[in-house]
Amino acid sequence: MQETRGYKLEMHLHTSRNSDCGKECPKDIARIYADAGYDGIVCTNHLNRNDLYGYVAPPWKRLSRGVMGCYLRDFFELKDECAAFGIDVFAGAEVSPDQVTYYKPGHPYAEYLLYGVTADELREYGQSFLTMDQEQLFRWCDERGILLVQAHPYREICDVMDVRFLHGIEVANTHPGHDSRNALALELCKRTGLVPTGGSDFHYRGGEGGGTVLPRAPKDERDLAAILRERRHKIILAQGGEAVEI
Ligand SMILES: [Zn+2]
Ligand SMILES: [Zn+2]
Repeated sequence: MQETRGYKLEMHLHTSRNSDCGKECPKDIARIYADAGYDGIVCTNHLNRNDLYGYVAPPWKRLSRGVMGCYLRDFFELKDECAAFGIDVFAGAEVSPDQVTYYKPGHPYAEYLLYGVTADELREYGQSFLTMDQEQLFRWCDERGILLVQAHPYREICDVMDVRFLHGIEVANTHPGHDSRNALALELCKRTGLVPTGGSDFHYRGGEGGGTVLPRAPKDERDLAAILRERRHKIILAQGGEAVEI
């Protein structure tokens, strides 16, 4: 890590075993992110009832590893693969509880990114997030120093959730296949004073190039949340662009 340029962190990434929209395996992701000059990645795989019990951990897979063991498998593989390139990998999640999941007939629809959560906490509590409402999930995070951030709040079908029960807003989601209307998210973030974050929402090769630049390397997941709270980080607003102060 060079002191002058800061610590380039991917804050929104999915792997191939997480849902059928994630196309790249940990080994390929490590190479892609090394080539793109990243220092770290937060692995934020989808955590919703449909993907978890259907795709990630169907009954025949969960027998040996358990449901959350299946969920965390790619995280640990990514950590190993990235270690070979000197890239840190931090646990995280993109949670969509039952009340706001896309896999129901009506609104509201939303997803929350968790920053600061550890793999052990995901293993123990991950399934219980699904039945929590926003306030319950916020309190669970808040008590532990974890940040609850609404992902791409202005994307197509998403609804902006209650800002009283959020720590942050994803102001830059640079997924090339969606219009996340990031300018509106940035405006909301500034208006509310919440913590801004940015990430590629990586699903496949060519989707990298977004993220956040931190003033220093996080020691672990909780330290990442602490650094974000200090608000000295910069955000990459456009895919492949420079990081800017918000
Ligand atoms: Zn999402
Ligand atoms: Zn995502």
